[in-house]
Amino acid sequence: MAKEMIWKDKNADIKKCFEFCEDYRRFISENKTERECVAAMIKELKAAGAVELKKLIESGRAPKENELVYTDMMKKALIVFRTGRRPVTDGLRVLGAHIDSPRIDIKQNPFYEDHELAYFDTHYYGGIKKYQWTARPLALHGVVVKKDGTTVNIVVGEDENSPVIGISDLLPHLSKDQNEKKLAEAIPGEKLDILIGSIPMEDCEKEAVKAAVLKLLKDEYNIEEEDFTSAEIEAVPAGAARDYGLDRSMILGYGQDDRVCGYTSFKAIMEEENPEFTSVCLLVDKEEIGSVGATGMQSRFFEDTVADFMDVCGCFSPIALRRTLRSSKVLSSDVSAGFDPCYPEVMVPTSACYLGYGPVFNKFTGARGKSGSNDANPEYIAYLRNIMDNAGIKYQYAELGKVDQGGGGTIAYILANLTMEVIDFGVSVLNMHAPCEVTSKADIYEAYRAYRVFLR
Ligand code: MN
Ligand code: MN
Repeated sequence: MAKEMIWKDKNADIKKCFEFCEDYRRFISENKTERECVAAMIKELKAAGAVELKKLIESGRAPKENELVYTDMMKKALIVFRTGRRPVTDGLRVLGAHIDSPRIDIKQNPFYEDHELAYFDTHYYGGIKKYQWTARPLALHGVVVKKDGTTVNIVVGEDENSPVIGISDLLPHLSKDQNEKKLAEAIPGEKLDILIGSIPMEDCEKEAVKAAVLKLLKDEYNIEEEDFTSAEIEAVPAGAARDYGLDRSMILGYGQDDRVCGYTSFKAIMEEENPEFTSVCLLVDKEEIGSVGATGMQSRFFEDTVADFMDVCGCFSPIALRRTLRSSKVLSSDVSAGFDPCYPEVMVPTSACYLGYGPVFNKFTGARGKSGSNDANPEYIAYLRNIMDNAGIKYQYAELGKVDQGGGGTIAYILANLTMEVIDFGVSVLNMHAPCEVTSKADIYEAYRAYRVFLR
């Protein structure tokens, strides 16, 4: 199908696109965990005069037209509403993305010492290619919650005066046996341990290096070894996202699956005022490990929050909730794998998506015979084609690679379980799930424009 590249479009506002992506680049540099994303967005919501749903419930006040209302789930998932001109029961327009990304989690009893080097024991989170995470600078982001309920925020490894940590790899000179292994087996998960110290504590006989690191943490943060049992610490690639390419047309950065769609969806609801239907931006956690848990898409969080919102609007009943959901339309804003000319063998050119051609519709995801997929209705796709074409949005269609090559899922099918119309629609990414993912600035800005059209 003939498509036009955004860079070649004389009407494309490249200046605005680059400005938008400056803010995006800063956002993903500063917010590398789901908690950090939620906190940053709540800060922005508060600055924009948004009200917490809890406050409306307490006061019994209904939200005003065009008012922003939000609630978080355990500080790791977020729902934002913008009240529409029509009654809530006419249905919602939902942008749903996830804000968790693959990473290396620190175990609950992480500290150990081996041959006078101190380590964190780890357990990786999400689908990673393990070799990509060795021999590179890592930062720590997270929280330690002490028994008295106080939370200690930890960020180490981001500013240039801060130390970084990392996972070692074998030198090529001694990698004969490792080189003969399959890529997937060359680095076992239990070898992804993080080196954190090498100076022994004075007058300490046993595990003196580990003791010295623990003392340092005690002095700096007032936390003990035991406090790590109630901690959530994520090791992520250290450093800021960067402009990528000599022409600065792309962004290289960690966690763009799926913060690139999370950020653009959030910006769309913040800036698209007076919508006809009530707008919703839903940002969930745990997508990368199957959308499980209270903060993942399989939780009751979304449904319960819509019920709460309808209740403060004075229109809740069990049947009204079901009807509202059934009248709702959703874009599952998640990323697609962009065509990589270095690896054409895994894709079919006519069913692939390309950097610079706009956000991508995936009618279905899943694997091998559409297993585990949400297969969007053609009636719904036709509706979306129409509104996107009328607004001059550039977009493309794709599926994830060759039929038997692999596959993947998103939150789409879980949203569809609530009887809403749902399709995946997001930005294409190179190096997906690698510590440094690549996106096109043209696609980022076009996705943001498309999400605004959808909410409008
Ligand atoms: Mn994703
Ligand atoms: Mn993913």
